Amino acid sequence: MINIVIFGAPGAGKGTQAQLLAEKYDFLHISTGEMLRQEVALGTPLGQRAKAIMDRGDLVGDDIVAGLLARAISLRSTLPSPDADLDPIDIERKGMPHRPEGCIIDGYPRTVQQAQTLEFLFRKLDRKIDCVVAIDVPRDELVRRIHERAAISNRSDDNEDVIRHRIEEYDLKTQPVLDYYRVSGLLVSVDGSGEIAETNTRIVNLINRRLGL
Ligand code: AMP
Repeated sequence: MINIVIFGAPGAGKGTQAQLLAEKYDFLHISTGEMLRQEVALGTPLGQRAKAIMDRGDLVGDDIVAGLLARAISLRSTLPSPDADLDPIDIERKGMPHRPEGCIIDGYPRTVQQAQTLEFLFRKLDRKIDCVVAIDVPRDELVRRIHERAAISNRSDDNEDVIRHRIEEYDLKTQPVLDYYRVSGLLVSVDGSGEIAETNTRIVNLINRRLGL
C-alpha cells in the first residue's frame, strides 16, 4: 500500500491536488479538514468542539484530529468488509468497490507531534509513508489566491483575517514539519505557482519517478 502526504500552506492547493491524485491513482483521499467540516455539519459533539477553533483559524487539538485520522486510515482502508451495505445499483454502475491500494493524506500532519503520531499509527498497521510532496507557492501568490478565494468561498474560515491567521499558524507550527521530513529523506518539493493542471502534471511525474509507478 502506497501512502503519500500532500503538504502546503493555505492557498497552495493541497486539497485540490490531493483530490486529483486520489482520482488518478484510485487511492483513498484522507483530508482532516474535510473530516472536521463533516463533523461540524453533522453537529456531532466533536464538530461542536472543533467549530469555534476552525472559525478562528487555529489548529484543532492533536487528540481530536488523531482520533479522526486513526479511524480513517485503519477502517476505511479495509473496505469493503464482508457485511458492507452494498447498493446493487451502485455496483452495476461502478463495479464492485475494491480496496484502495494507497492513500493520499492532505492536511495532516500539521505539527511535529502529529508527524510522530502518524508514524506511530502506520507502524501499528505495518505501513509507512512513501513520499511527502510539498507544494511550494511564493507568499505574494498565496495572498493573491486568498483574496480570490475569500470572495467566492462558502467556508466560514475563508475570510481574509482568518486565512491570514491560518498562514501564521502554518509558519509557526506546520513549517517545522518540513524539516522533520527533509531529514528523513521523504520530502520532495514541487513548484505550485502555476495553473492547477500544470502543478498536477509536475506532481504526477515526480510521484511516478520516485515510486516507480
Ligand atoms: P484545511 O481544510 O486542511 O485547510 O483545514 C481547515 C481547518 O481544519 C484548519 O484551519 C484547522 O482548524 C483544522 N484542521 C485540519 N487539519 C488539521 C490538523 N491536522 N490539525 C489541526 N487542525 C486541523
